Amino acid sequence: MKAELGTFPKDRQILYKILPLDTPLAMDIHITHMCNFHCNYCVLTQSEEDFAKSGLKREVMSWETFSLVVNQIKEFPNKLKMITMSGIGEATTHTRLVDMVRALHDADVTHKIQLITNGSLLTAELSRNLIDAGLGELKISLQGLSARKYREVSGVDIDWEQFYKNICYFSSIRGGQCELKVKVADIALEDGEEDRFYELFGDICDAVSIEHIYDVWTVQNANLDYHEKTTETTLYGLPLIDNKICRYPFMFVDILPDGQYTTFCHLLFGFEKNIREASIREQWNSRGENEVRLKMLQGKDNFPMCRRCSIVNNTYHPEDLLMGHEKEIESRLREMYQMYT
Ligand code: SF4
Repeated sequence: MKAELGTFPKDRQILYKILPLDTPLAMDIHITHMCNFHCNYCVLTQSEEDFAKSGLKREVMSWETFSLVVNQIKEFPNKLKMITMSGIGEATTHTRLVDMVRALHDADVTHKIQLITNGSLLTAELSRNLIDAGLGELKISLQGLSARKYREVSGVDIDWEQFYKNICYFSSIRGGQCELKVKVADIALEDGEEDRFYELFGDICDAVSIEHIYDVWTVQNANLDYHEKTTETTLYGLPLIDNKICRYPFMFVDILPDGQYTTFCHLLFGFEKNIREASIREQWNSRGENEVRLKMLQGKDNFPMCRRCSIVNNTYHPEDLLMGHEKEIESRLREMYQMYT
């Protein structure tokens, strides 16, 4: 198999050593909260009542909002390591996706533009256009290895053979400028299908992974009953730990379709505003964001919404762990905090 195992970024820095950051390491731009699939585990597929509890809205980012996002990212002193077009929803359903990738590429604000997609709308033309526009990584999230599985998990009928051919086509034209990664959840594979997954994708991708599904959605109201295979390991196969500090407020920003600034999980700490009211950089450096970081160093359980969240335990990377370094981060953070207040 040519592909490496693990579809997450591997070139990680030791996070506590580089905090605080004047520029986020990564950003998700949620260009849509709509999807062409109806996956039975997803927050988008819940009843309207449950969906409303998530705080999300079924909406699409306008070009005007996207342009504002790009212009505001330019205010940061450094380039981000990665900007991802995804969030919650299927980015390829957005009619301006290719224009958005091109605009981000031309703005030269990030080292890599990543698109996470279910891949179902990946025609040959879209593949060529995305690569031409400057996409740096295409990550496809599979829901199974057969049309029957897609019907069962995602409530859609796909032509599996054509779907696979489309991915092979992307692989054949990607050259050296765009990586192709394919991942699948363990719950989407039938017994014995692991080998088939690696046979199908191991030689056409740069990285592949079978991810262990876990119960992240305790904070987001999705369908837990489906998660029969919740395991004792993290999403990436590492042992579970009791991680007390969430890395996201220190290194990550999410922008929702309406322009709302959030810290990864789209749940609000209270200081966040729409980017029309305060720019992304202003909010990143704001008193409110820094107070969240200082409080997070005392433990995530200080925030009611974080108390129920298992993301920090189930998706950690050893390089990102902040526990044991609270004092030195706090001292540098207080220094920076004074600069901005
Ligand atoms: S602990 Fe969970 S809910 Fe809290 S900020 Fe981190 S990801 Fe979001």
